[in-house]
Amino acid sequence: MSYRNQQRYRKRGGECGKRRRRSRKTDVRLPAVIMGTVLILILCGRVIFTSGIGEITGQVAESQAVGAAAAVDAAPGQKDNRAEQAHQVKNAQEQEWNLLLVNPWNPIPENYEPELTYLKNGQAVDSRCYPELQQMMDDCRAAGFDPLICASYRTMEKQEALFEDKEARLIREGYPENEVEDEAAKVVAYPGTSEHQLGLALDIVDVSYQQLDTEQENTPVQQWLMKNSWKYGFVLRYPADKSDITGIIYEPWHYRYVGKEAAAEIYENKLCLEEYLGIN
Ligand SMILES: [Zn+2]
Repeated sequence: MSYRNQQRYRKRGGECGKRRRRSRKTDVRLPAVIMGTVLILILCGRVIFTSGIGEITGQVAESQAVGAAAAVDAAPGQKDNRAEQAHQVKNAQEQEWNLLLVNPWNPIPENYEPELTYLKNGQAVDSRCYPELQQMMDDCRAAGFDPLICASYRTMEKQEALFEDKEARLIREGYPENEVEDEAAKVVAYPGTSEHQLGLALDIVDVSYQQLDTEQENTPVQQWLMKNSWKYGFVLRYPADKSDITGIIYEPWHYRYVGKEAAAEIYENKLCLEEYLGIN
């Protein structure tokens, strides 16, 4: 029906009472049905479309919720583990100075300043381990060997200087600047994470072979130290098979004072300090 005819019917219906109106109803049924169908289709489409988006949105929301829930679940777990580890470390640190753990994940306590005793060659150690160190060196020499302490206590500034020096060398060797820090940390402990800053760690070499490499383990001095250092409270801190726990490569020259009791247990059970403390 044309627009014009529709107008005519409307006009007539308005003028002619019930019958007309009834007749008009019959006449407009088709467009009304079409309009209604279109309307229904539009509404259905909207419902389908809306519910479709709702489902997708729902899925996203759900997966986000699952992700969030997982994250929420994971976070306290990790937090608990870390808190537990920090608690253990704190306990160990509060209980015994000689068992203070310093490694890549446990930096030295802020402003840690041990009382130092200086050795004849200018090296320095925590005064509390000095008598046993002196005894160990004396006994090693008395056994016919020639040990040399080549590194001991380091200040934070010294460790920073060593680290920066290593970075500078890597840059000269052509390493990209954004990689030098990680690369340097493989060889030199990041400032704040070196045991040498405690004054309880020593690098000891054989005078006849002063290279800091794995060959050091074959020198007479190392053979003697590896067998006897525990009797004086020192342990070989970074054994070859514990690198994944200590975070440090095998260093058959680095000794750490832990006290006689701990050293005996660590030596007898082939542990590293982290394992002894139950933190690994
Ligand atoms: Zn060392």
